[in-house]
Parts: sequence; structure tokens; C-alpha cells
Amino acid sequence: MRIMADVEVINLLLPSFNMKGKGRSTKGQLSVGLKPGHRDDGPYLMVCTKQHASGQFFKLKGNIEKCFSKFLSEGKATIRFKEPPNDICINKADPVQLKALLNVLRSAFQGVSLDNLTLTPLAPVTNKQLDKLKTRLSITNRKDYPITTNFPTFLESLTVNHVTMKKIDSRILKLRHLRVLDLSHNSLHTLPDSFNTLENLAELNLRNNQLTELPKSFCSGNLRSSLKLLDIRNNKIKFLQLHFCDLQGLVTLKLDSNHLVCLPAYIGCLRRLKYLSISDNKLHTVPASFTQLNLETLDLHGNPFLDPDQSSVIDRLRCPSLQESAGRSLLKHRVPYTEEDVGHLMPYLASAHSCLCGGFCFQSHVHYLSKMDMSRVAASFTALAQIHSKHAPCEAFLCSKKCLKYYQENPYAVIWRNK
Ligand SMILES: [Zn+2]
Repeated sequence: MRIMADVEVINLLLPSFNMKGKGRSTKGQLSVGLKPGHRDDGPYLMVCTKQHASGQFFKLKGNIEKCFSKFLSEGKATIRFKEPPNDICINKADPVQLKALLNVLRSAFQGVSLDNLTLTPLAPVTNKQLDKLKTRLSITNRKDYPITTNFPTFLESLTVNHVTMKKIDSRILKLRHLRVLDLSHNSLHTLPDSFNTLENLAELNLRNNQLTELPKSFCSGNLRSSLKLLDIRNNKIKFLQLHFCDLQGLVTLKLDSNHLVCLPAYIGCLRRLKYLSISDNKLHTVPASFTQLNLETLDLHGNPFLDPDQSSVIDRLRCPSLQESAGRSLLKHRVPYTEEDVGHLMPYLASAHSCLCGGFCFQSHVHYLSKMDMSRVAASFTALAQIHSKHAPCEAFLCSKKCLKYYQENPYAVIWRNK
């Protein structure tokens, strides 16, 4: 039997010689079988890594001191051998495979016959198998793209540029160790709904593609907390929907050179965001929640911002119609709906304005436009070319007199959404 995992072999004698191990685990292969020339000893465990491609061997029968398997369900375990006195630390293994391996090791240790397992002579890993242990891969030429072979299972960083990719390869979405994915300079039009299966993804570069939107599912699942960097410069995105603000782990967001006419109302809820660039879009205003951001750098250059002389307040508040009341309630309570459910009201619901209280409004609202000081938002700020000032026009839609009063009194205060 054979499994792949992060492996570190620690010599337990090193501390007694006042020496330390390197303390780094690498991708490796663990296999159980017969050691050539030592058939009578019974099964051995062989550990192969790039550094030890020919393998390190550990006799199993009567030779296991202890097995630490408390975190087996997370794919972690440590096996302590008597001779040589080594700890084999296993990490990032498939929990099911690891459990099966530990069961085999226990049986072999106790001298139980492994009749149900065919023990073959252990052979060093081949170059092809070593390739499977690769953690980084960069493809910048169409002819290098793997068609007949699979991507290495343990890839943590994958770059695929200039291959005119139109659709994301479903094999990429199964690389569950992936942390960095760079698909910039391709021809992607859409992202698949299953994108959020990449549960460890921290950096995603989709620069220079043909994207027009990000699907709702993109902002759900593990990506909400795992994604730290998103680069979608040079695409054709017009809107980022409200759920974009669920990407709470974002530190760096690059939206330059798209077709954005507005930003999601709760962008100020991205509490970890430090680096934001939205240059060369079609923004006339930024949403009022923008003032809640606490950025290191901000670039709003190259947008056709309005330049109001003074704050403007247009009060359209009136008793909401039955349709508006129903719409407000449906959206506030996040009731899931489809086109089949609401029919011709779909565009109406899409036209809702988000109030800073977490509620929504349609015709009945107060439109509030004011210039806000961006030096309170970002430590370093690229001036707005059209305005030549550090102020940007902020737009708020308020759903009630109470919300209007609160906003007028606290324009830079924390959003009272979900209060
Ligand atoms: Zn409100």
C-alpha cells in the first residue's frame, strides 16, 4: 500500500548530541512492503522524499514505540520507531488513506499476518512518481499544458498564463492543496459555480481575462475566509454583487481597468482590507460604507467621479407600497428566490438599494450625496485626477427617517448593519 503526504523524519537522538533537525516537512510517499534482501524480517515502511528518493526503511514487526493519532481526522499522525529511533511526522494526508495505513502498521507491529494485503518488494520512487510530489507548477506555453496526464495532486501553487483558457479546467478545481492560483492572461468569460471547492486558496490572480461577473457561489464556502488576495484587473466586470462583501479574509483587492459603475454597498465591511485599487473604472460615487475602511493604500484614479459643491439630500421617503414592503422583507431576511418564484419582479428586486442598517429600499428612500475625506480612509492615497482633492463623493441610500438621522450624526461611524 502507498500514500502521499507531507513527511518529516526526525532523529530522536539529535537533541542528546545538542543538535537540531531541520524541522521542515516535504512531500513524500509512504509505502508498506518487503525490503529487498530482508524478506524474512516481514514488512517494512519505506519513506521516499525528493531528498531521499531511494527511501528510508523502517522495520515494522515489534519496532513501533508509539503511534500518535489524535488528529487522524485532519490527516496528521506521528509514528515513533524504536530502531532507528526516529519520529515519522505525517501531515496533510488523506484521512481515510492514513487510517488504513495506520491499521496496517499496527497489524504488522503485532506480527499479525497481512494476508489480505499483497506485499510487494519496495522499490525507490520513479521520476514520474516524484513529479506527483511537486508543489509548484508554472505553465506559460500552450504546448506544456497537461492534456493526457493529471496535475500533480499536491500542487500548492499553479500558474497557467497565455494558453487562451476559456473555461477553468475541472481538474484544477480538485487540487485541494492549492494556495496560489494564477490564471491571468487567458480568455476566461465565466467562473464555475464549484470554484469555492478550493478550500485553501489564499491568492487568486485572474488579471487580463474576459470576466463580466463573479458568481454568487464564488463568495461563499471556504473562500470567504481563506482568500487574501484577489486580482481581477483588466476584465469587463460591471457590478460586484452585495455578497462580494462576504469575502471577509481579503487583504488585497485589485479591481483596476474594469467597467464598474458602482461598488457593493457594504464594501466597508471588508475589515481586513489594506490595499485597494479601483483605478480606471466608471465610478461616479463610492458607497457611504467606504468611510469604514482602514487602508494602507487606495487608488481611485481615472474614474468619472461627481464633484458636488455641497451635500445633497433628496428625500423620497413615503409610506412604502405593498410591493416595496414585500421586497424589503424578502431581501432583508435573505429569503432565497428564483425567477420562477418572482417572475417579472426579478428586475425590481435587483434594483433595491442597500441601507446602512442592513435593510433595503426601493422608491421610498433618502438619497444622500456628500464629499468624504479619503485621507481618513487610507494612509496613502492616489489623488482623484478629476477632482484634484483628497475628497471623494459618497452616496448613501437610507430607508427611514431614523437611518437618515443616524447617518447625519455619524457619517464616519461604524456601519450599523445587523444592529
Ligand atoms: Zn435603514
